Amino acid sequence: MSRVFNYSAGPSMLPVSVLEQCAKEMLEYGDSGMSVMEMSHRSKAYDAIIKEAFATFRRVMGVPDNYKVLFMQGGASTQFAAVPLNLMKNGKADYVVSGEFSGKAYKEAQKYGDVKLLATSEDTNFDRIPTFKKEDVRPDADYVHICYNNTIFGTHFNAIPDTGDVPLVCDMSSCIMSEPINVSRFGMIYAGAQKNIGPAGLTVVIIREDLLGNARPDTPAMLNYKVISDGDSMYNTPPCYAIYVAGLVFQWVEQLGGLYELYEINKMKADILYTALEKTKIFQLHAQKDSRSLMNVTFRTGDADLDKKFIAEAAARGMVSLAGHRKVGGMRASIYNAMPMEGVRELAKFIKEFDEANA
Ligand SMILES: *Cc1c(COP(=O)(O)O)cnc(C)c1O
Repeated sequence: MSRVFNYSAGPSMLPVSVLEQCAKEMLEYGDSGMSVMEMSHRSKAYDAIIKEAFATFRRVMGVPDNYKVLFMQGGASTQFAAVPLNLMKNGKADYVVSGEFSGKAYKEAQKYGDVKLLATSEDTNFDRIPTFKKEDVRPDADYVHICYNNTIFGTHFNAIPDTGDVPLVCDMSSCIMSEPINVSRFGMIYAGAQKNIGPAGLTVVIIREDLLGNARPDTPAMLNYKVISDGDSMYNTPPCYAIYVAGLVFQWVEQLGGLYELYEINKMKADILYTALEKTKIFQLHAQKDSRSLMNVTFRTGDADLDKKFIAEAAARGMVSLAGHRKVGGMRASIYNAMPMEGVRELAKFIKEFDEANA
């Protein structure tokens, strides 16, 4: 067996200890006589698995008691519709477009109401987080939507924006559990699992209780937060196995020391790459310094052939999936929680060598 360092933006690396535990329990979970994949979601064994996953996630994220945690399906993209369907009770919402996914969320919301573009950085190909003032938020807007970490462009909010009394709704798909977050500053947080949580197929939603129960009458039951919440995320068959793996990842985070500890490690990991890139002659960073992501590092040489050479030579050394998204070009190193420090050091070393050989 030879595992590579996988810098994929998602699905992405999982902790080896979690994969090993999945392997160990693959044929029989506990003394149940079956795999978690084969279990009824109504069984006692599975009930314990999902309850523990909820409880561990709440502890890790510091979710206050007046918030519900929901396990849903359909990826973060399904939330682009679920958010306006559930939360637009006045039919108005304000959106910050800081990248590809927030742009998609903005477009989807327009199907359901009056949507204002609060700020965008599209003019500079999303190389920074656009700013807005509290006064720019419409006081009668039902919510303000932002994307905290822009996976494709490699940018990240460096502070939670102040939206006054208007609830803040946030897509945290690519940065959830990478840093401590004051959940009480948000009305709702959602994240697709396949970056920092576990296998694709699971979407985690954290929502303040008073925001439940305002869904449009034509909201599909499967997208209705109240319905999902009332059914303890078992209105229908949940993505059972994905939740089981996510539960193991939550435990892994807790055993590492939680989000404060992980944040220190993540800052160190990102700093190693950014510092290495800044020292080179041939590489440029896409994101402006004050908007840099700790999870997705975007860079390029400015020469498409040289970028290809870098990606191919890195792959030959066991560092894969470094190609940037077509909207940015160049390279992207996604260094989520499960990317070991060693993977970042190896990549930094190769960046230096490649620069010396090609400058
Ligand atoms: C990956 C990603 C998405 C899309 O997630 P899906 O689960 O594929 O729908 C949305 N937003 C952000 C910030 C992402 O990183």
